[in-house]
Amino acid sequence: MTWQALMKEELERLRQADIPEADSDIRLFAMDVAGCTYSTLILRMAEEASEEQAQKLRAYVTERMTHKPCQYILGSQEFMGMEFATAPEVLIPRPETELLVEQACGKLEKLREKKRKQTGDGKLRVLDMCCGSGCIGISVAKLVPAVSVDLADISDAAITLTKKNRERLQADCTVIQTDLFAQIEEKYDMIISNPPYIRTDEIPKLMAEVRDFEPHLALDGKADGLYFYDKIIREAREYLYEDGYILFEIGQDQLDAVRGLLVENGYVDVEEMKDYAGLDRIVMARYPAL
Ligand code: GLN
Repeated sequence: MTWQALMKEELERLRQADIPEADSDIRLFAMDVAGCTYSTLILRMAEEASEEQAQKLRAYVTERMTHKPCQYILGSQEFMGMEFATAPEVLIPRPETELLVEQACGKLEKLREKKRKQTGDGKLRVLDMCCGSGCIGISVAKLVPAVSVDLADISDAAITLTKKNRERLQADCTVIQTDLFAQIEEKYDMIISNPPYIRTDEIPKLMAEVRDFEPHLALDGKADGLYFYDKIIREAREYLYEDGYILFEIGQDQLDAVRGLLVENGYVDVEEMKDYAGLDRIVMARYPAL
């Protein structure tokens, strides 16, 4: 069977099962099976796929028909141009979170200038709290020169996966298993976090891909969705150098609440940013000198 016929047949199976974005899923699966980029695959559409390749593609599609996300089936997700390994008990990196990394990188450059003037040494310390796959902290470690990055999470699976991604991407950073700040001993120039922020009562309403396959530990922000922001904002004050930054990803309806928590706890210069869908997604602030 040609790649074209095979992909058409399998696309149809995904559509019949009401799988969202079936076209892009088929492409991802076919690229994996054929072991090439999509542009190369297009040139090979009239060629025969081997029986083994056809079986592998069909098996992926059968798995996807249960609504299991592609990233768990294929075991990886691209983030900031790098391939991060995924694991079933850890949240899949999201494109919105790339915005958080971009903002963090920009702010670190500014901070570095200032720090150089103060101390002559521009080395900056960054903490990724609730690191999951490690996508935020590892990206910062790879993209910003002369930073020292610590990544923290409570979950065994997240710690294992972050270490795996650290090796895979050859990032120089430290991984710490801790319940929020319990085992954190250092101070930082920047704390970045994409904590669990979905309200418990919203979880049953999420799409099947998320609800049935992603770990609720990484999603559940408790009754009001703000549990982790509240704790991190309070506790981070002890772990930030003066004028250090805190950056959060937030849910689309959480801007006012999170800004309120920051202001209440003495943070200043609160800024926000929307994502590509025009939804509130990032909040940033500084903790001033006392
Ligand atoms: N920091 C990780 C991410 O952004 C995990 C977030 C989480 O588990 N809530 O993907």
